[in-house]
Amino acid sequence: MEAGNGHLRIGVYVCHCGTNIAATVDVRAVAEYAATLPGVVAAREYKYMCSDPGQELIRQDIEELKLNRVVVASCSPLLHEGTFRGAVSKGGLNPFCFQMVNIREHDSWVHQDHQKATEKAMALVRAAIRRVALHKPLVKKRVPINPNVLVVGGGIAGIHAALTLANAGKHVYLVEREPTIGGNMAKFDKTFPTLDCAACILTPKMTSVKKHPNITLWTLSDVTQVQGYVGNFEVSITRHPRYINEDLCVGCLECIEGCVYKQAKVSDEFNLGLGKRKPIYISFPQAVPQIPVIDPETCIDFKSGRCKKTCIEACGDRHAVDLKQQPKLESIKVGAIILATGYQPFDARKVPDYGYGVYPNVYTAPEVERLINASGPTGGEVILRDGRKPQAIGIIHCVGSRDENTNKWCSRVCCMYSLKLAHLLKERTGAEVYQFYIDMRAPGKAYEEFYHQLLAEGVHMIRGRVAEVTDWAMTKDEEGKLVMRCEDTLISFVRRVPVDMVVLSVGLVPQEDAKDVRRLFNISCSTEGWFLERHPKLAPVNTFTDGIFIAGACQAPKDIPDSVGQAGSAAAEAMVLIDTGYVEMEPNTAYIVEEECSGCKTCVPLCPYSAISFLADKKVAQINEVLCKGCGTCVAACPSGTIKQNLFEDDQIFEEIQGVLANA
Ligand SMILES: Cc1cc2nc3c(=O)[nH]c(=O)nc-3n(C[C@H](O)[C@H](O)[C@H](O)COP(=O)(O)OP(=O)(O)OC[C@H]3O[C@@H](n4cnc5c(N)ncnc54)[C@H](O)[C@@H]3O)c2cc1C
Repeated sequence: MEAGNGHLRIGVYVCHCGTNIAATVDVRAVAEYAATLPGVVAAREYKYMCSDPGQELIRQDIEELKLNRVVVASCSPLLHEGTFRGAVSKGGLNPFCFQMVNIREHDSWVHQDHQKATEKAMALVRAAIRRVALHKPLVKKRVPINPNVLVVGGGIAGIHAALTLANAGKHVYLVEREPTIGGNMAKFDKTFPTLDCAACILTPKMTSVKKHPNITLWTLSDVTQVQGYVGNFEVSITRHPRYINEDLCVGCLECIEGCVYKQAKVSDEFNLGLGKRKPIYISFPQAVPQIPVIDPETCIDFKSGRCKKTCIEACGDRHAVDLKQQPKLESIKVGAIILATGYQPFDARKVPDYGYGVYPNVYTAPEVERLINASGPTGGEVILRDGRKPQAIGIIHCVGSRDENTNKWCSRVCCMYSLKLAHLLKERTGAEVYQFYIDMRAPGKAYEEFYHQLLAEGVHMIRGRVAEVTDWAMTKDEEGKLVMRCEDTLISFVRRVPVDMVVLSVGLVPQEDAKDVRRLFNISCSTEGWFLERHPKLAPVNTFTDGIFIAGACQAPKDIPDSVGQAGSAAAEAMVLIDTGYVEMEPNTAYIVEEECSGCKTCVPLCPYSAISFLADKKVAQINEVLCKGCGTCVAACPSGTIKQNLFEDDQIFEEIQGVLANA
């Protein structure tokens, strides 16, 4: 099929995408139709246009048929616009003399009527042909990249990403909002399925972070502003006062000893309220940095000004205690950002049927992690809130997961950590342990084997969702116990299991401030609040904002191996970006025709990227092409139509609309 029309020489390529498109759209008919349109000199169909032979077809046609415009009708530009621009470029044509038509997501995947879907594909192709005729060659700008990286969140994912980058010679700023790094993993005693000691594998990594010459660690810190763009972000960070000078403190902890509080009286956040701490404290023995922090909410000096300040005395000549310390603002420039802000455990109070907060011996799994931890509030002994040692323990899976009333998603780690806790609780107490599960999910290396190990250890498995936990005894056996009522779905029988301790295996939910963080970094969240990856399979650590990557459980519930794997991948992506040395900016930016600008300034405050400034001397607005993201807000708002946008010029858009609406 070959034709021609004046100076325009357009090639049209229609993809079958296997049967994704071809099952609903008559691909051959679309190509044949395209061949009849003005300016089209070649129209071809191919099974997979994105494959090497498909791209080669385009390249060859450009060379041999002297094409000066190309249209590809296939899948979403998000997936393959770059691929086809590359093929066009290889053929020697400017990559912006190209238009992509999405006849998969916009057509074959959303329609069933074969004929109508084919007609729609023809209309979309017709519109693209009319539009591409008006495309102008454009050039991507190259901007140098700042080689430093910011990692936000010092859990295992953030730590691993920071160390990977630092070991590769990049300078990393690791910002953590708590007084210590370590995240949730630092609270665990052992980790599934290997049951290796969490502190033994995490502490060396934490101390490496502190010692690494390429890592600047800022704890008790918050990112407050992010400006700029890929390769050149400017980030403001507020460092909250620790009231201990980190440069002078040697970590001897004598100030804690010296505090006027001789007993720890304040509820300890790190131990989830199960223990007490002093107003001057260190979160846990292996905390990094190994520097105490003063809590102004409970310190007598901050509250009344009438403390003897014995902590200062205890510090002696080092003078590290600084009660006058103020928040400090840091400003840094980085080329890439990795967000590793993790998750929070589901709030068990939202499922009142299980009695959390009502019955003292109902615990959440994170609380039990602290209870069995050697550095926890009871030194690893499992003593209930009422002082007893449990003889029977019930563990309820999926609390706040796989539940229409709370969260629909599977939290991925709860089955496995419930098995881990069953093993550890049995080991520490010798109690009978009952697991109440919906389905046992153990999909990971050595996970299924771990489940079988637990069966062999004599842990009771009851398949069914617990309806309620009460202290209402119906028999003598149940007196003084918590009773778990549940239908055992394997034997179709309602059971009442009396226990001394209930453990709620709470799910993983997004951080409370995930939506604020998303806005701050200008990335997207799923409806549930997890940070959204650019593509679930092909770009799982990228976001829709170039230069910002995600790692660990901030993206979705994840175990430690997967968090570490993803962190390594995010670090590698950041490194690829940095080592390239420059970024190419998309040329779809807005521009101002200076002579026509009335200087009304309407556009200036509207720009979400602060890319527009007003030149007072010339009385016109000016757009910084590097900051402009091509969102088009200013173009739409300009009262005089002075602002235009590359690739979205009015005539191109009108021609496209007319192309869709034309009858043939
Ligand atoms: C009870 C329980 C037991 C578990 N046991 C296991 C196990 O045995 N084995 C296993 O593989 N997995 C286990 N998991 C899962 C494990 O906790 C996660 O896989 C892991 O913690 C994810 O690490 P992360 O770094 O992504 O997130 P996190 O551990 O949540 O760390 C995130 C860090 O980011 C910081 N942060 C958050 N927001 C900000 C911000 N805006 N600015 C700065 N810093 C911020 C947080 O303070 C925190 O330090 C368990 C989970 C639970 C609930």
